[in-house]
Amino acid sequence: SDSLSGEVKPRILLMGLRRSGKSSIQKVVFHKMSPNETLFLESTNKICREDVSSSSFVSFQIWDFPGQIDFFDPTFDYEMIFRGTGALIFVIDSQDDYVEALSRLHLTVTRAYKVNPDINFEVFIHKVDGLSDDHKIEKQRDIQKRASDDLADAGLERIHLSFYLTSIYDHSIFEAFSKVVQKLIPQLPTLENLLNIFISNSGIEKAFLFDVVSKIYIATDSSPVDMQTYELCCDMIDVVIDISCIYGLADCEAGLPYDKESMAIIHLNNTTVMYLKEVTKFLAMVCFVRRDSFERKGLIDYNFHCFKKAIQEVFDVRVKVQQNRKLLSNR
Ligand code: GDP
Repeated sequence: SDSLSGEVKPRILLMGLRRSGKSSIQKVVFHKMSPNETLFLESTNKICREDVSSSSFVSFQIWDFPGQIDFFDPTFDYEMIFRGTGALIFVIDSQDDYVEALSRLHLTVTRAYKVNPDINFEVFIHKVDGLSDDHKIEKQRDIQKRASDDLADAGLERIHLSFYLTSIYDHSIFEAFSKVVQKLIPQLPTLENLLNIFISNSGIEKAFLFDVVSKIYIATDSSPVDMQTYELCCDMIDVVIDISCIYGLADCEAGLPYDKESMAIIHLNNTTVMYLKEVTKFLAMVCFVRRDSFERKGLIDYNFHCFKKAIQEVFDVRVKVQQNRKLLSNR
């Protein structure tokens, strides 16, 4: 079904000064580029670089702030874009002097808030791979304080900013993106509930719902997430897609080698089994199951089938609601 397309997708804007790392983030998260290759990315001179990933659950766009060009150019319809945006991610290069970045952040956030007070403002304190843990916390505290002081000085304390420490050299960028995307999914509590029911009825330890292209997890059951488990899921998705691309029948230029039949099972050396299955065109479920529970795979598959049907209904309802609203507003 095509129910996760069009306006139902969470829409994200990625902004920041030139060279802060926006294209690298996009390439690493949405195009599987390895972090080292980003060293050779070329800077473009365009103000707006549109890139709506058609194969992903998320749709998003990048905006640069190249030095002299005024981004609030009257010919540029930023109001329309802010109105359709769910989250605005502002990238700050933590290895650089961030005075100018902070003033741009302030300008952007206050303008965007005026147009659309419902936008989630997310600040990525980026390129923290070179910093010690103490140093990271210190940087975050400093940036956070300056940004909120600026807002307070303008009488805009009510604008809330969220901060994340990120780097393309580890999983932190995927984790941060996951949190940003999860905030934009109104069905999140329902998805979590369905996952809770699914795992408890199937003897499963943990289950994640992943956007296959970006390896962003859009939901998980309510047990805590540890980084290692999350990283294993990312690795599993990579293995499945890479092996299918290299040795499979699909034409990978034409799209992901991923369809209704897609599934994989990996037995780990600690009596745990990892089980991946297709849920929708964009989404896969990755579960952790103990080996003895996995002997009842028939039960798991049956419950999975019910889960999948429920998920489709959750998203179909949303599409119908939106279509009805459109019809009404066009009258
Ligand atoms: P953009 O102009 O904002 O799109 O920035 P780019 O994506 O072109 O990145 C500028 C430079 O920052 C490139 O040389 C990247 O390799 C580097 N870079 C991006 N992300 C990171 C990161 O997380 N850590 C480090 N150390 N370098 C990064």
